[in-house]
Amino acid sequence: MSHIEKAKFISAPPEWGERVPKFKKEFKRRGTVLRAKLEISALGVYEAMLNGVRVGDFIMAPGWTEYEKRIQYQTYDVSDLLKDDNVLTVGVGHGWFCSNVGSAGKYPLSPYPALIASLYIEYENGDAQNIVTDESWSAAKSETLYSTIYGGETADGRITPEFNTSARIFDYDTKKLFPTEGEYVREIERLAAKKLIITPKGERVIDFGQNLTGYVEMRLCGKAGDKISLSTAEILDGDGNFYNKNYRAARSLTEYILKGGEETFKPKYTFFGFRYIKVDTSMDIDPDNFTAIVLHSDMKRTGYFTSGNEKINKLYKNVIWGQRGNFLDIPTDCPQRDERLGWTGDVQVFCRTAMLNFDCRNFFKKWLRDLALCQYEDGAVPRVVPNVVNENTDASPKSPERRHSSAWGDVATVCPFEYYMAYGDVGFLREMFPVMKKWVGFIESASENGLWNSGFHFGDWLALDNAADKCGATDKHLIATAFYFHSVGLTAKTARILGEDSSHYDALLPKIKKAFRESFIKGSRMTSDTQTAYVLALHFDLAEDSERDALKNRLIELIESRSDTLTTGFVGTPFLLDTLCEVGRSDKAYTLLLQEKFPSWLYSVNMGATTIWEHWDGINENGEIWSENMNSFNHYAYGSVASWLYRTVCGIKYDEFAPGYKHFYIEPLPSVLLGSAKARLLTDFGEIVSEWKCDTGGKISYYFEIPEGTCATVTLDGITKEYKAGKYSFR
Ligand code: BGC
Repeated sequence: MSHIEKAKFISAPPEWGERVPKFKKEFKRRGTVLRAKLEISALGVYEAMLNGVRVGDFIMAPGWTEYEKRIQYQTYDVSDLLKDDNVLTVGVGHGWFCSNVGSAGKYPLSPYPALIASLYIEYENGDAQNIVTDESWSAAKSETLYSTIYGGETADGRITPEFNTSARIFDYDTKKLFPTEGEYVREIERLAAKKLIITPKGERVIDFGQNLTGYVEMRLCGKAGDKISLSTAEILDGDGNFYNKNYRAARSLTEYILKGGEETFKPKYTFFGFRYIKVDTSMDIDPDNFTAIVLHSDMKRTGYFTSGNEKINKLYKNVIWGQRGNFLDIPTDCPQRDERLGWTGDVQVFCRTAMLNFDCRNFFKKWLRDLALCQYEDGAVPRVVPNVVNENTDASPKSPERRHSSAWGDVATVCPFEYYMAYGDVGFLREMFPVMKKWVGFIESASENGLWNSGFHFGDWLALDNAADKCGATDKHLIATAFYFHSVGLTAKTARILGEDSSHYDALLPKIKKAFRESFIKGSRMTSDTQTAYVLALHFDLAEDSERDALKNRLIELIESRSDTLTTGFVGTPFLLDTLCEVGRSDKAYTLLLQEKFPSWLYSVNMGATTIWEHWDGINENGEIWSENMNSFNHYAYGSVASWLYRTVCGIKYDEFAPGYKHFYIEPLPSVLLGSAKARLLTDFGEIVSEWKCDTGGKISYYFEIPEGTCATVTLDGITKEYKAGKYSFR
């Protein structure tokens, strides 16, 4: 039973403005405690201390949801922390709720934060005591002077909070509270400083060797009133100076005023995306006193990949770090600049890979439920979830149509379907089915005779085939219609899985295909002569069999005319290598995977990347930075190539008719160029392993493991056989 609904939201006086408040309640224990439960949440981000001990290890709690509809609360067992006389204090930073996230005008949802909590104590004698937030709590200005998501945090260690003000009741609907669904965000790893760099400009910069998301803990020894400030950056500029113009309006600063003596400081209510920090202080600094703390949702790692090529291994590690950096309670585009938003397109592109790398069950269940809550009446899916854009007083988009985009909104069909494939959870698929139908219904009403040829679309975002436009050269309506077909296909499959009527969707498919062919395939060419156009037509099966050969040939020509490099953006890239394999050109897929020239995956690896870049050309060969305006070095979208490593290179593929790996396929694609590869995938049945090695004579050996309770259809060198649980080697 939940007791938190008996509590009231409380806040500090509004005049305290930016200052982070702390709230306090003192109480006596009344007997021998059977159990004590703290239920707690905030409009903002809280840190609770009971008798001086931090309650729980959830950082950035209560997490980010579609706040206007629902807010998580957490429950902690605090039985062991209680004493005869108790002090509960809770600091509440501005967090997402009270920060200007998205810069679109809707957030902050409140100018100052609020707290709600219930401490329910059951005694051995049968008594119970419920301590809830109300006017009896006191408030103090805390040592944290300022804290926001983009701005960072400022604290003054000399301040001892004085609880001499009564808390105010903050009128907010407690019915929005619900128990935590997502994963806790935790301090997952600590990274020591790699080196101290004195830049040509004379700046003192510490390099942690890895682009990550979290904050820096510093050990300090100085005088009271000494100041230190840390700015963050992902890269150094071509001259080796500190560079963070790509953070745009995100100030991303940690500032601390020392208490004096030996002390340790780290921010409490915010996070940063960075590899480097610039340290500004009059004190001497020793890099050993600076530790980067990595924060993210605490998901279990499920996938591992390694190969005979160290650069590919580095690329794969960069994908993992990209996910770690962007899975902080919600899936974000990037963790550093003034966005850090749940961009739906990025999730659409990356969700399959994400669910191979980590167990994202709770993480995506929470996020998809928020998506369902903020889906518009007409079925359109917002560009970002939680939705920071106000539909009515829309400050950022130029027209209301910009509420949505193809390939972004399609996350509504793709992510639930991939979730079902990964985890076999039919109940959740059923829950998401109305969302899928609504999205497809929206497209149906926006399209004409199967053609989606209206509205705003991001297109093949960041493709390299249109120097004049970030949206690439592929016709946006070609992409929209292709994704319409894809989403209807997934909805039809879902209907069949659920035993629902699929006839409407089945009937739509040929209609959309016809419209697509008539509008976008002209003889042996696509109307948009881009790699992405051919990839979509081939991969989504939008061409007639008789047309496929010509389209395939043109795709190969386009790749070869660019000296075996890609030009695809967010839309085409995730399917590029798959498509090449499907049309019998796995050799070209390997060529692109192993390509080191610009543009390619390994180009960024050669340029020293430790995460996946937003742009293929984030940094040019001559060291120039593509743009100040939109240039993140931690964007996971192109990391979707990792699913190709698991599923094609090592060949571990789910079976659409036996999801959750109840039955699966192993169809490895060995390559002398790669030398060897090994993937491991932890499923509910145990670990699946698929490994191959080429010896010096080019002879290939295979090894695979099928865990108990499942079975696999295995194709090696063109021969297919069924295998039960066991470990198998072939030379
Ligand atoms: C984000 C993207 C997003 C895009 C939409 C960018 O600013 O960082 O990753 O999908 O906008 O076009």
